[in-house]
Amino acid sequence: MWRAVVGVSMVPAVAVVTPASADNNDDSNGSSGRSYGGRSTGPTTLQLLPADSNFPTPGGPKRDDLPDGVDLPGAFQSNVFCDPQDRPGLQAFGALLGDQWDRPGYTTSRTCLDMKSDHYDGRAIDWQLNAFDPQDRRIGDEVVAWLSANDGEMAKRFGMQSIIWNNQIFRPDGSGWQGYVGQSPHTDHVHFSFSWDGAMMRTSWWTGVPVEMPDLGPCGVDASGLAVITLQARADATCATEDPTYLESAYTPYRGEVIAEGAEGPAVQVLQQGLGVEDDGIFGPDTKAALVEFTEDHPWLEAREETSATLWHVLELQDYPTMPYRSMQTEEGDRGYQVSVLQTQLDVEVDGIFGPLTAEAVRSAQEEAGLTPTGIVDGLTWAELDAGIAGAEMPVPPSVHGGNVSSWTQND
Ligand SMILES: [Zn+2]
Repeated sequence: MWRAVVGVSMVPAVAVVTPASADNNDDSNGSSGRSYGGRSTGPTTLQLLPADSNFPTPGGPKRDDLPDGVDLPGAFQSNVFCDPQDRPGLQAFGALLGDQWDRPGYTTSRTCLDMKSDHYDGRAIDWQLNAFDPQDRRIGDEVVAWLSANDGEMAKRFGMQSIIWNNQIFRPDGSGWQGYVGQSPHTDHVHFSFSWDGAMMRTSWWTGVPVEMPDLGPCGVDASGLAVITLQARADATCATEDPTYLESAYTPYRGEVIAEGAEGPAVQVLQQGLGVEDDGIFGPDTKAALVEFTEDHPWLEAREETSATLWHVLELQDYPTMPYRSMQTEEGDRGYQVSVLQTQLDVEVDGIFGPLTAEAVRSAQEEAGLTPTGIVDGLTWAELDAGIAGAEMPVPPSVHGGNVSSWTQND
């Protein structure tokens, strides 16, 4: 169910933010050599207000299809360039928080001031709560307790790299809860900072597959002086200059574009194709109505009359359902959700176990597509499977499609 957004979730890159309101990202020990606006003060335990029936809280959202394995958190990833565009994981997480706890206000990306915050590359979200209000305080406490419990399991499943709330900071890298001092005590919001995997929704809450090789993040600024936009996870120290074509889709060029009624051109046409309306490239009332309906019906989205990074991401997953797996190689002997997706595509028995029959089906599909029949599913093979060469139906990854909302169970 959609609620009105109180906060600003799409702060344009030109928004002016005064230094006084700049958030503090904890990276005082980071490798960047930059000093962020806050620092940890040593181990502590999470201080929670006792439960009170006058201030009930719903508990954390649950999914019944999470894998046993938990995502491996990488090293803290400082921002290395200015690209204040909301990554899709921020908006989806913000929508999830707002829906579960009825506190829809949050802010995200910011104009770059001093390159000292993950808000500057679209990987941090500030969720508005008042730590001095008895209801808000219990909500904030419940959220951070939910995320940090069990060695930060849920934080890892979202790809979170730090949480700051009410003078305390949590990092799921083994350092646990610590005291926090900085320009802001974080008593008027909770700060959540994400790894690149989390920001790009490549973690197990969203994909059903735990991250095993954390994305090291972008390499920095290229020769043109423009930010290097990463669409592909980087697992080694080498920086690729171009993304492989199998990591691109019709939506790729438009991922950052915010378009609304009155817009014209190829981005509108691609949007219309995704929404299933006439693709004349002119954003008129019919396109607007289709967009609003689509966003209202999707659990990751807030109802909008304009596009957002998350919308483009959702449309891409709808039309290219293997996109989250294309940087992942899988072969005989593997198990897991990605194998189930593969088997659905291949129209073989879906048991999540990559056995000889699945390998044979992969070789056949590769041969049909003109690829070397290795039986190993790589990026090119995933891409061909989306193209439907095996005549398979589209797979439905957990929670990716509006029609799969039943995989979400909530406590209330
Ligand atoms: Zn923040």
